[in-house]
Amino acid sequence: MQESFFDTPVKYLPGVGPVRADILEKEVNVRTFSDLLHYFPFRYVDRTKIYRISEIDHSLPFIQITGHVTRIDKVGKGRGERLIAEFSDGTGTIKLVWFKGLRWIISSLKPNTEYLVFGKPSLFMGRINIAHPEMDMATDENIKFASGLQAIYPITEKLTAKGLNSRGIARLIYTLLQMAQGKISENLSPDLISKYKLINREDALNDIHRPSDSEILKKAEFRLKFEELFFIQLSLLQSKIIRIEKVKGIPFPVVGNYVNRFYKEILPFPLTESQKKVIKEIRKDLGSRKQMNRLLQGDVGSGKTLVALMAILIALDNGYQACIMAPTGILANQHFKTISGYLEKLGVATANLTGSIHRKEKNIIYQKLSSGEIRVCIGTHALIQDEVKFKNLGLAVIDEQHRFGVAQRAILRKKNNPPPHILVMTATPIPRTLAMTVYGDIDVSVIDEMPPGRKPVKTYHRYDNGRVQTYNFVTEQVNKGRQAYVVFPIIEESETLDFKNLLAGFNFLKQIFPDPTYTTGMAHGRMEAGERDDAMRKFTAGETQILVATNVIEVGVDIPNATVMVIESAERFGLSQLHQLRGRIGRGAEQSFCILLTGKKLSNDTIARINVMCRTNDGFEIAEQDLKLRGPGDLEGTQQSGIAGLRIANLAKDGQIISLARDAAMELLKKDPHLKLPQHGAVAVYLNDIRIKKTDWAGVG
Ligand code: ADP
Ligand code: MG
Repeated sequence: MQESFFDTPVKYLPGVGPVRADILEKEVNVRTFSDLLHYFPFRYVDRTKIYRISEIDHSLPFIQITGHVTRIDKVGKGRGERLIAEFSDGTGTIKLVWFKGLRWIISSLKPNTEYLVFGKPSLFMGRINIAHPEMDMATDENIKFASGLQAIYPITEKLTAKGLNSRGIARLIYTLLQMAQGKISENLSPDLISKYKLINREDALNDIHRPSDSEILKKAEFRLKFEELFFIQLSLLQSKIIRIEKVKGIPFPVVGNYVNRFYKEILPFPLTESQKKVIKEIRKDLGSRKQMNRLLQGDVGSGKTLVALMAILIALDNGYQACIMAPTGILANQHFKTISGYLEKLGVATANLTGSIHRKEKNIIYQKLSSGEIRVCIGTHALIQDEVKFKNLGLAVIDEQHRFGVAQRAILRKKNNPPPHILVMTATPIPRTLAMTVYGDIDVSVIDEMPPGRKPVKTYHRYDNGRVQTYNFVTEQVNKGRQAYVVFPIIEESETLDFKNLLAGFNFLKQIFPDPTYTTGMAHGRMEAGERDDAMRKFTAGETQILVATNVIEVGVDIPNATVMVIESAERFGLSQLHQLRGRIGRGAEQSFCILLTGKKLSNDTIARINVMCRTNDGFEIAEQDLKLRGPGDLEGTQQSGIAGLRIANLAKDGQIISLARDAAMELLKKDPHLKLPQHGAVAVYLNDIRIKKTDWAGVG
C-alpha cells in the first residue's frame, strides 16, 4: 500500500471528524484509512432484489421496495401512540409503522417523493406491514449504495450514539473506497495469485464491503483470509529461518552412560510408543547444530516428565547442566522429588530452587550452580533471578509453559551463551491449526497416548438437587480409602462472593465428613503460599482425605490415590479448565470419577461443554470443541502471537486455508528465504510493513 494515503488518520475522511475519529479508535481500534478499509462486515443482508408489493410474502426475512407514501396517520394515545403510513408502488399497498420518534418521522417524510424502503415484513390483522423501516429517497445514488448484499458491520452503543450504526460505517467505507480507487496495490506475488486462484487485492477489498452477489463475496473472503493467514505464516517461518541461521546451538553428539544406565537399570516401566517417538525427535534436534526450540504437547498424565528427564540425561552425557522451571512451588517440588529420585541413583547432584528456600541455602546453591557441582536444578521463577549463574547450561525445560510470559523464557535463554536448548511442555493441547499459527516458528511434538493401565475417568453431570447422592457416593469412595477433591470456582469479577461460597462449602463438607473420622483440608489463592503448600503436601501424603479447593490445583499435581472429583458450579468453568481439573484424577490403577454439579438453568453453550466432558477424556478433542465454542481469542498463546487480532480469518473454521497458507509460505521461503527475488518485492514490502506496525509473532524462546 502507498504509505501516505492509507496511514492517514481516519478523522480526515469526509464524514468523520475528530469526535467520531476518537470514538472509532477507542471502540473498535480503527485509527487510519487502512484500519477502516480492513474493518470487515460480520454478515450480509441480501438486498439484491427490489420487490413489487404484490409479490411480497410476510415470510420473507427482509424486503426492499420502492414507491410513495400516500397518507400518514397518528393513532392511539400515550404509550400506544404510533404512526402509520400507507405506502404504494402501483402494484399494491402496505403499511409502514413507527412507535418511536414520531415527530421526527412526520417532519422528514416528504409527499410525492419516491422512497426506497427496506425492512422486515410481518403480518398484522391480515395485512403486511413493516415496523421501523429504513427509508432513503430512491435516487440512483441511493439505490446503487443499497443494492447488492448489504454489509452489516460490528458496532457498539457508543458508535451508534455518534451516528455510526452499521449503515453509517458502510457509508464511510463507501466514501473511502472511492477515494482509494487505483491506490490499493497488490501484496502477493503473481505466482501465488495464479496458483491459488486468487482475485486481486483491490477487487477483494471492494467486494468484501460491497459484494454484488454471493459468488463474488466468497472469492473476496477467500482472498483476504488467505492473505491474512499467509503473512502470519510467512512472518513466523521466516523468523525461524533467520534464527536458525543466526543462533547456533550446542551440539550434543553423545548418547552415553547416563542415558544407557537409566534406560537399562532404572526406568521402572517401558516407554509408550509416543514417548519414544518424541524422545527421538528431541534427540535429533540435540544432535544437530541447531538450537532446539521445541514444544511438547501431551495431555495431563501422558508422561511428559519422563521425556524431559531423557532430554536432561542427554545434556548430562555431553557434560552440560540442565534445569526445569515450573510455575508453582508445589509442582517444582513434585518434579524435584521424581527427578532427583532417579538422578540420585546415577550419582548426579540435583538442587531444588524455589522462593521459599532460605537465603543461606540459596547462596550455597548459587555457588554450586556456577561451579558446576550441581548438574541439574529444578525450581520456579527463582531460577531466572539475576543471582543464578550456571557453569554451562545446555538445556532448559519449562513446564506448563502457558503460565510463563515470553519475557521470562527469554531470560532463561540468556543463562548461557550460546543459548541452551529449550523444551517447553504443555498439558493444554491445542488444535493443529491453532498450533500452526500460535507456534508457527517452533517445532511441535505430541504425545497422543496414555501409559498403559489407565482407566479413563468416568464423568457424570448432576443438578444441584442431586448433591446429597453425589456426596453419598464420595463418602463411599473415601471409606474405601480413596481421596477426593471438591472444587469451587473463584472467578475474578465476583471474587468476594465466590470466596464466601467456598467457605460455606468447606463448612458443609465438614458436616458430611466430620472430624475426627475424616480429615478435610482446604487450598485456595487467598492463603499464604506456605499455608497452601502445606495443605497440598498433607493431601499428597494422604494425611487429608478430602481437599476443598479452587483451581489452584489446576496444574500438574500427581496424586494417584485421588480418584474422585466433585466440581461445584461446573457451569462457571471453561472447557479446558474443566479438563485440566479433571486431569488431577485418573492417575492411578483404580477407577476414577468426576461429577459436575450445576444449577438447573443452563445456556446451550454450557450444556455443550458439559456434554463434551461427559463424552470424552481426549484432550485434543476437547480442545477442538473449545475452539469451536469459544473462538480462539481465549486460548493459550493467542495473546502473544497476535492472532487475537485476526480481522477476517477464523482459526476455528478456516483450518483448510491455514494449511494452504502455510504451504504457500513454506514454498516461497524455500525458493527465496530472504525475499530478495524481484517477484517477491511486494510480499517483502508488505511483510516489513506489518512487522513494524504490529506484533512480533515470534512465539516461544
Ligand atoms: P504429565 O504429562 O501430566 O506431566 P507425568 O509426567 O506426571 O504426566 O506422568 C504421569 C504419571 O505417569 C507418573 O506417575 C509417571 O510415573 C507415569 N508414567 C509416565 N510414563 C509412563 C509409562 N511409559 N508407563 C507407565 N507409567 C508412566
Ligand atoms: Mg506434568
